[in-house]
Amino acid sequence: MHSERKARGLPRGQASESDTDTSLHVEDSRGKAAGSFKPASIKVKKDIYERARARMVETQIMERGVSSKEVLNAMLTVPRHLFVAEALYSQAYNDYPLPIGEKQSISQPYMVALMTEALGLSGSERVLEIGAGSGYQSAVLSMLAYKVYAVERIHAIAAMARKTLDGLHCSNVIIRIGDGTLGWREEGPFDAIISAAASPQVPSACIEQLKPGGRLVIPIGTEESQELLRITKTANGTVSEVLGGCRFVKLIGRHGWQQPREIPR
Ligand code: SAH
Repeated sequence: MHSERKARGLPRGQASESDTDTSLHVEDSRGKAAGSFKPASIKVKKDIYERARARMVETQIMERGVSSKEVLNAMLTVPRHLFVAEALYSQAYNDYPLPIGEKQSISQPYMVALMTEALGLSGSERVLEIGAGSGYQSAVLSMLAYKVYAVERIHAIAAMARKTLDGLHCSNVIIRIGDGTLGWREEGPFDAIISAAASPQVPSACIEQLKPGGRLVIPIGTEESQELLRITKTANGTVSEVLGGCRFVKLIGRHGWQQPREIPR
């Protein structure tokens, strides 16, 4: 059973549940111009965590059955420690989620690998990511897809993700602040959609904005426990597969959980 840290309420003054607030748009202009279908490569410096990353891939990811060479290579390459606070660097390659502020968390490495593999990417895809969080999953996806459209509802988190991704010259990820349960209509339909936050039901926009043959990977269930689903859009509807049990933070938005009311002081 995968365990994600639970979101307990929300800080004041963050994104509302209304449609995307374009005034808070965070976009990397370099992301606009990619011309070929070869995924952009990120620029990584040598670091002291290479062995920890290799161990993580071997013992947490390969041993649990993830076998895609491309996914394993991305997990070996992306420096996960850079997506958490410096005080947590030494824990960055451990087998659990870590806090990233605003009561949110960076997903467990295995869960990132499993979800990425389930999308079945070949390099040419336009992928919608709901809940960009630290940007770690976005960086992994950026190595496997043509372009990643990431939506994050909390401004401070999106800004941090953008900074980290820019530091890695990750140019094919665009981050937008808004409610990802509405998808990203202007950029759809997508070849693949991934949500790193759990919803009580499949947001209808996700199915609408998926191309025929497209895959949606999303945790669905209650606040306490969910099933990771892969939903494939077919000519006649959708086909759902259960990939396993999991626990993620809540997808908060119009087609997810309601935003918790603030307790008046
Ligand atoms: N893959 C990310 C996981 C982040 S946790 C990582 O590894 O860092 C899930 C994120 O979803 C949180 O940052 C949360 O703020 C965000 N989120 C929750 N509801 C959302 C919504 N409706 N739209 C966009 N982002 C949302």
